[in-house]
Amino acid sequence: MKQTIRDFDFKGRTALVRCDFNVPLDAEGNITDDTRIVGALPTIQYLVSHGARVILMSHLGRPKGEPKKEFSLAPVAADLAKKLGRHVWFQSVETVLGDEVRAHAASLAPGDVMLLENTRFRKEEDDKDKEVQAPFARQLAALADVFVNDAFGTAHRHHASTAGVADYIPAVMGFLIEKELKYLGEALENPKRPLVAILGGAKVSDKILIIENLIKKVDALLIGGGMAYTFLKSEGYEIGRSLLDADGLGLAQKLLADAKAGGVEFLLPVDVKAAAAFDNDAPSGICKISEIPADMQGLDIGPETARLFAEKIAGAGTVLWNGPMGVFEMPNFADGTIAVAKAMAESGAVTLIGGGDSAAAAAQFGFAGRMSHVSTGGGASLEFIEGKALPGVEALDDKPV
Ligand code: AMP
Repeated sequence: MKQTIRDFDFKGRTALVRCDFNVPLDAEGNITDDTRIVGALPTIQYLVSHGARVILMSHLGRPKGEPKKEFSLAPVAADLAKKLGRHVWFQSVETVLGDEVRAHAASLAPGDVMLLENTRFRKEEDDKDKEVQAPFARQLAALADVFVNDAFGTAHRHHASTAGVADYIPAVMGFLIEKELKYLGEALENPKRPLVAILGGAKVSDKILIIENLIKKVDALLIGGGMAYTFLKSEGYEIGRSLLDADGLGLAQKLLADAKAGGVEFLLPVDVKAAAAFDNDAPSGICKISEIPADMQGLDIGPETARLFAEKIAGAGTVLWNGPMGVFEMPNFADGTIAVAKAMAESGAVTLIGGGDSAAAAAQFGFAGRMSHVSTGGGASLEFIEGKALPGVEALDDKPV
């Protein structure tokens, strides 16, 4: 077990906190979605109320190691100050660290908060080589007594600010990472059963590791979205012009066999909504999977499939969903995705959404607030579901045994 902020006495100590302030900004630099800032507040408020001196850091976008004004964390500092109701000291320094930043960090009083500039302004931050990251990590660590990692969104990456700093000072996790690990960890290791996983999205090859790991854990696996057609094709169906991941065909067969051997129920679509073109306004219609016309492509699961999936969801103890059931960005092909989100929202199960597109869909259609947990980290939650260790968590200190 890894240590959390509850395991450390912060009184009079300086905490260096890695947040995920990677928020979307419009052309004028206005924050268009503050979910990630709101998500970071519990940890920051806990530290402030426990007498810590607080130094926050984060990346924003991909400045590729070059200081660029449009990737400055200045708008985050302003928004954060408003939300915390206290001053947040911020100086946009190209090097992230500088004499003034260091001097200010050293002069903080208990409860004071400052924010460093975008850690990705330094190319050492996310260099592939940990040795190259190390000097920057050491400089960051020198500012503080303890490292608090609360950025789940980057926990699957070993960067100077996500894992490197933990080499030099005590390191614990914040509330956000703790919550993510609790929900995802329990869903995979100790779920309320039956555990039903729903997977969608574009390509099978992208999700192989996830499917392989899930087959070992779930009671039922429901497959929709673009990747369903590769499975259907591998079962001998003609899929017309639907998305086919030709390289994934053999794998699809193997995964179906694995599921069968493991006693896992594996549900594929029984009907689809097929269209004449990849276009919302293209002529379209519902057809059985045995009757997909050669010149059409399936862009959503059909109503009978949606009904079957909803039935499985209603009977589940835990539901884990990743990947849309169709091209939900086009209103004419969003019904299957909406049906799954609605069934989850209405079920009494523990409901988890891992991953960007399904989280976006649940939010867009108004169901996000009715899920037990919507993961904030797309890539990180996927790697966790794959069963991989997350470097940003691995680097933290273990609880004493
Ligand atoms: P992923 O990033 O792999 O989760 O894929 C998400 C994308 O898959 C979304 O943008 C969907 O529009 C797309 N998608 C879902 N179903 C289909 C489909 N049947 N054909 C083509 N693309 C799809």
